[in-house]
Amino acid sequence: DMLFSYSHIDYKGLAPFPIDYFHYSHLSRNRFTILLQQSLTPCLITVSTYLLILCNLTNFPMTKIEFNPIGVLLSPYKQKFAIPRQPNLVKAGKAIVNLSSEFTDANSIRGIEQFSHLWLVFLFHGVAEQGWSPTVQPPRLGGKERVGVFASRSPFRPNPIGISVVENLGHSTNSGVTSIEVGGIDLLDGTPILDIKPYIPYADSISDALGGYAKEQPDNSLSVLFTPSAEEQL
Ligand code: SAH
Repeated sequence: DMLFSYSHIDYKGLAPFPIDYFHYSHLSRNRFTILLQQSLTPCLITVSTYLLILCNLTNFPMTKIEFNPIGVLLSPYKQKFAIPRQPNLVKAGKAIVNLSSEFTDANSIRGIEQFSHLWLVFLFHGVAEQGWSPTVQPPRLGGKERVGVFASRSPFRPNPIGISVVENLGHSTNSGVTSIEVGGIDLLDGTPILDIKPYIPYADSISDALGGYAKEQPDNSLSVLFTPSAEEQL
């Protein structure tokens, strides 16, 4: 049971009326009663109605939303520098998404092999504590010009959530852990994965879209010199 304290409810046809608290108890998966303290009349509502009321009461957006990561990414990129700036720039960059035990049920990824690419929705955990500012200086503008955070893909965001399209290289289950291998990643080792969705070409790829200040893939070719001892090891 939880106690909420709000000043009044104003929801769909209900006249705004003051309440001090309402109290809820679960009845089944998506129904529960709320008890308005003033009237002490229990009302049966669904979770979605309850959420709508909450949004109204708290001036949506809600102040706090909690997610449980569905998995964690094991990546060869161990520090946040020198990671590709977007997915698919370095196709050889491969990683493993290990699904958390709650989601290891093979049914949760049934059909995923039909998709060559997947969206990963993830937390920028490496910088999540560092806050954000309304403008950022994208590397694509030489780090000199400012654009709005919402006109950028900067990791420093009000909600530090990232999205990357990665190659689906197949999945397996070993000792009860389901893993999906992904390619072309731009993600730090240990990145908490919030969601996985199939990439759907007809909807997700827009051939005449404008790329703003990031029109072309950056020229990232660098010449690499190997020392004789490195060459020997290769
Ligand atoms: N494709 C994503 C990420 C773009 S920013 C998006 O558009 O949302 C990519 C940069 O994020 C990488 O170069 C790396 O420096 C940084 N990064 C990747 N994973 C991170 C993590 N878990 N925490 C903090 N920074 C991360």
